[in-house]
Amino acid sequence: MRPLIAGNWKMYKSASEVRFFCEEIQKKIGQLSVDLAIFPQAVHLPLFSTIFTATKQNHFFWGPQNIHYKEMGAFTGELSPLAAKEFGSEMVIIGHSERRQFFGETNTSAAERALGAITFGLQPIFCVGETLEEREANRTMEVIDQQLAPLFSLVKEPSSSFSIAYEPVWAIGTGKTATALQAQEVQQQIRKRIESSWGKENAAKCRILYGGSVKPENAKEILSQPDVDGALVGGASLEVGSFLSIAAAANQ
Ligand code: PEP
Repeated sequence: MRPLIAGNWKMYKSASEVRFFCEEIQKKIGQLSVDLAIFPQAVHLPLFSTIFTATKQNHFFWGPQNIHYKEMGAFTGELSPLAAKEFGSEMVIIGHSERRQFFGETNTSAAERALGAITFGLQPIFCVGETLEEREANRTMEVIDQQLAPLFSLVKEPSSSFSIAYEPVWAIGTGKTATALQAQEVQQQIRKRIESSWGKENAAKCRILYGGSVKPENAKEILSQPDVDGALVGGASLEVGSFLSIAAAANQ
């Protein structure tokens, strides 16, 4: 399966910094052997579509960090999947732990947004993961099962490029990375859950990404695990050089 290296830019970068990154990456992506995706602030999506109009590569994607599940309506402050698509978005992050922690995203609302994404033709990266307290209480898979349950019940058939990102909350932006073995252990279980709900074929097709302080120095070991099909990268995706080093590690 072709790995996916996705950059979550959160609420960082000005328009001129976005432009600089895009122009730099445009010079370097050439023949990609992995899929790359960037998730900027929604207001910057038009910059991506303008800059990449003539040079869009098959394996370079962008999209928002969240979307509403309806195409339009009285939902102040939300983003329509169709509006995101107008600016070339092909993917979307759903249920990131920061959405859950700060903005009241629940397992059910995340599942609804994933269904909305699929309905309107965006490929979701659906985030799950446990807190440190939950890991220490040996509740990691119990928590992940709760996060996945509404998804499996609402989405009967995933889109061809559905991804699940395992992002232990204790490893996001903390500099603490799960060991390659810890990531593999959980991601193998996630693949089994996909298989029981969506079948063997979908389990083999769904990409399971790891996220949590991935950097050029630790990427190779994590990405070499059999059930790690890519990475969702926060801090280290903000700089073209480190983002591309992670992509190169996925390629080895
Ligand atoms: C993230 O925000 O999804 C993330 C994994 O961040 P970081 O790489 O900075 O830990």
